[in-house]
Amino acid sequence: MALQAPEGTKDLLPDEAVYWTRFKAIATEIFGRYGYLPIETPVFEQTELFVRGIGEATDVVSKEMFTAISGENLKKLLDGGTVKAKSRLSLRPEGTAGVVRAVVQHDLVPQGAAPAKLLYAGPMFRAERPQKGRQRQFNQVGIECLGAEEPSVDAEGIIMLMRFYAAIGIPVEATRLLVNSMGCDVCRPAYRDAVKAFMDTHTDELCDECKRRAETNPLRAFDCKNPGCAAVMEGAPKITDHLCDDCREHYEAVKTYLTGAGLVFVEDPTLVRGLDYYTRTVFEVQVTEGMGSQNAIGGGGRYDKLAEEVGGRPTPGFGWALGYERCVLALEAAGHTLPAAQRCDVFVACVDDSVRAEAFSLVQALRDGGLVGEMDHQRRSLKSQFKLADKLGAHAVVVLGPDELAAGQVKVRDMQAHDEQMADLAALKTQLAACAVEGGAAALKDVLARLA
Ligand code: AMP
Repeated sequence: MALQAPEGTKDLLPDEAVYWTRFKAIATEIFGRYGYLPIETPVFEQTELFVRGIGEATDVVSKEMFTAISGENLKKLLDGGTVKAKSRLSLRPEGTAGVVRAVVQHDLVPQGAAPAKLLYAGPMFRAERPQKGRQRQFNQVGIECLGAEEPSVDAEGIIMLMRFYAAIGIPVEATRLLVNSMGCDVCRPAYRDAVKAFMDTHTDELCDECKRRAETNPLRAFDCKNPGCAAVMEGAPKITDHLCDDCREHYEAVKTYLTGAGLVFVEDPTLVRGLDYYTRTVFEVQVTEGMGSQNAIGGGGRYDKLAEEVGGRPTPGFGWALGYERCVLALEAAGHTLPAAQRCDVFVACVDDSVRAEAFSLVQALRDGGLVGEMDHQRRSLKSQFKLADKLGAHAVVVLGPDELAAGQVKVRDMQAHDEQMADLAALKTQLAACAVEGGAAALKDVLARLA
């Protein structure tokens, strides 16, 4: 049997690969208006970065990370040896830890500097059970803003994400924006203890995993999908009743900015998200219909302690990531189909082999002029060349025949108007070559109109 892509991965075939490129371009354009600049970090990092940054007790780190190991080190391990800590590597399960590591390593936020606003796009890897909308390799676009703790940073980050969804065609009415505050070092420990104490009074009703969570990470129980646990946790203390004054003020300011920008949101005091590094603002964007349980298309929050966790000086941060594949599913749920990637402006057809060299040179001139030009490379009949031109979506077909060519003439068929005209080859070449200067395919339409 022919080999298949690994389980939980997906090939982006040309239509979709072209769309992914466009998706990133729109992101770069929109987030660029808010001052965000691209950064590229490795797809693998020292495992310790994720353990320290994301948290050892999180599902992402304890169960879902893919280890990356060189052949040499794998052999060492299989022979019963050990490998140095710096050679213990993992594929990144998310982008924030790597970006924060890079900010610290390259001192991108020196004392007193403006915040570093960074944007990334690329694959993430999680060894989850694959299902629709949940892959083992998936693409994220994310932003991180380091060096500012003002609530305006959180608000503009959320606003620009919602603007992006609208720009790509996910209707705002089809989404739900959930927000919460997770508190800080001052107020969260007491809240954690309150949740743990509450869970201890309901131990018998909790699943084994949540019994463990009560000891290691009680807040994670809010994410448990077990209906029994969910029912119990509904009665748990709410973080919003336990915020310190500074956190409350911060949260209120974020909400005021969001409302001022016309965003509708739902406050969800049980929203804790799966990673340990969040402080204060957390949020998630869900699609309300058509996506089943994998309906989160983006989310993130503030992480004021993460830079210190990875060895840097205190540097507050805020960021989020959106899932590319889930956005495509959301677009499909909203009735959109991906545009076809294939485009052909002018197809040059040959009546027989004697004109192939001239066709080859004309196609080249078209491309040099900025048009998408194509010709037959399989010695097809003229009829089948027309079929191909049609399939490629060509606006025009230029037909080269030996007799016409001898008189310096070619036939031009406008594929939309179904109209054919004779044209002078030399003049046509000059006009087509000018298309790029005048504006590509749009200028081609003028050329065709002038012939008609
Ligand atoms: P997270 O880092 O878990 O907050 O993920 C941010 C976004 O990435 C989510 O809202 C999803 O859209 C997307 N995402 C996370 N995990 C997966 C996955 N396994 N497969 C596809 N998309 C994912």
